Amino acid sequence: MTAEAAAAPVAPKSAPPKLNPVRVPIAEEPVDARTKDFREVLHAYSKEDAVLEAKRCIQCRRPWCVEACPITQDCREYIRLVADGDFDGAARVTLRENPLATCLCKVCYHYCEDACVVKKKGVPIAIRHLKRASLDYGDDDLAYVASKPKNQRVAVVGAGPAGLMMAWELAVRGYSVTVFEQEHRYGGLMQTIPAYRMTDADVETDRKRFRDLDVKFVDGAKVGRDFPFDKLVKEDGYQAVFLSIGTPSHRGLGVPGEQLPGVLPALDFLKDVNQGKPVKVGKEVVVIGGGDVAMDSVRTALRESHGGRVTLVYRRSRQEMPADPEEVHGAEHEGIRFLFLKAPLRISGEQKVEGLVVQGMELGPPDAGGRRTPVPVPGSEETIACDTVIIAVGQKADLTGFGGELDLKLTSQGWPEGKGKGFETAVPGIFAAGGRSVVYAMGAAMEAADAIDAYLSAKRGETPAPRPDPFGGGESFHKPAGYTAPIRV
Ligand SMILES: Cc1cc2nc3c(=O)[nH]c(=O)nc-3n(C[C@H](O)[C@H](O)[C@H](O)COP(=O)(O)OP(=O)(O)OC[C@H]3O[C@@H](n4cnc5c(N)ncnc54)[C@H](O)[C@@H]3O)c2cc1C
Ligand code: SF4
Ligand code: SF4
Repeated sequence: MTAEAAAAPVAPKSAPPKLNPVRVPIAEEPVDARTKDFREVLHAYSKEDAVLEAKRCIQCRRPWCVEACPITQDCREYIRLVADGDFDGAARVTLRENPLATCLCKVCYHYCEDACVVKKKGVPIAIRHLKRASLDYGDDDLAYVASKPKNQRVAVVGAGPAGLMMAWELAVRGYSVTVFEQEHRYGGLMQTIPAYRMTDADVETDRKRFRDLDVKFVDGAKVGRDFPFDKLVKEDGYQAVFLSIGTPSHRGLGVPGEQLPGVLPALDFLKDVNQGKPVKVGKEVVVIGGGDVAMDSVRTALRESHGGRVTLVYRRSRQEMPADPEEVHGAEHEGIRFLFLKAPLRISGEQKVEGLVVQGMELGPPDAGGRRTPVPVPGSEETIACDTVIIAVGQKADLTGFGGELDLKLTSQGWPEGKGKGFETAVPGIFAAGGRSVVYAMGAAMEAADAIDAYLSAKRGETPAPRPDPFGGGESFHKPAGYTAPIRV
């Protein structure tokens, strides 16, 4: 090395960005007040707090958060815009890839936050809550625009998150879409989410942005019961069909006493409460289950019991509970009693529910999914006195009218899927998908939409193009800079 080289100034190594591990707090309605009615529990950020929180994001070169989002929402970009105080820009970015953003900013299980690098040092960026800030303070009354009509028609069966995502994906590409829904409301299982988390109005706010798209909604039409499924293609001339029928039916326990008055299926209970229908909840309520539906049921039962006691009974331990930790925390905070390692044996009572007989369990070896299996403890039966039992142990699909020729696969959580690429069924042009959460269902529909577009483009003798800018600008769907591959958390 020459003397000059040795004396030359050395460029300082760029210091790693400093992570601020402390999140700007998200305020909550006090427990005493919020358990008396269905007022919203989480408060929105103020504009100033949103900017402060967004400034914690270090704008990673590789956007781990985006890669963990099943619909590739460019959250890194909307966070950058919020940090700059550009809420209109942030709202546009949010809605560009996410036609159900008003719902998701309240109920998404924020897989992005689990992947956020800040989580390694402290609390991840409040990505979901910043999505909400982008819509609260930016112009979110935007209308989606269809590209040149393709003159091809697609039927979507089921207006849950997967069906709505599919309708949007195809309509912005210029297809004509009809959505058939058996209920008179839209949103699928989102209809059962309690009003203290989200409401029907959120679904309608999102659906309003579809107003200029060629999407026709037909409600109160149960395909397979009101008319045969194959009529859609054979008589009505749809060139492709997407089945997004989800899991609208209750799954029972199969124990004696399930038919007694006072036993309520969780889905019916939650839906009835949301629709303002009368529900009969006593003063000693037991909810059976350990998932998100069980969490929504205990918290809703608490509000409906007006001062009663609500107990959750789960056959494994807390560690094995599949429910979202945020919801478990909310239930605990509101005073729900948790009884772990107890499996229901029967519901007792003559004319109505008087108790739940349970068997004590201990944890055995892990099952195929890695969760430890509950094993009965002999001689550990006991009765929990109660007047209401709500069963929240799962949902299932209703395949009435859908023939075996589709060769559908039922997932472990119950919704039907096509086994082929892009969720195509054994019948060409018929696709089927759904998902374990709102955004996963949308992600599956996003993948199926590409497959349907490819299928219909081939019929026209064209090559499919990426999803165009849904606001009619020049920009087509893009993967954010630095994006490498989807990760699943
Ligand atoms: C109580 C509860 C709380 C939840 N909370 C959350 C949450 O906080 N966050 C989250 O991300 N996820 C949550 N989920 C899960 C989420 O709602 C589902 O994963 C998601 O709705 C699945 O979407 P999907 O479109 O696949 O099916 P679904 O939502 O089940 O929609 C299927 C639609 O098809 C319709 N349909 C069915 N058969 C027919 C037919 N033959 N003809 C016409 N229409 C038909 C149904 O009526 C329904 O509208 C919750 C679920 C429940 C039950
Ligand atoms: S949609 Fe859900 S997972 Fe995706 S960025 Fe938003 S909060 Fe995160
Ligand atoms: S991973 Fe976290 S810190 Fe990195 S860009 Fe995403 S939100 Fe920001």
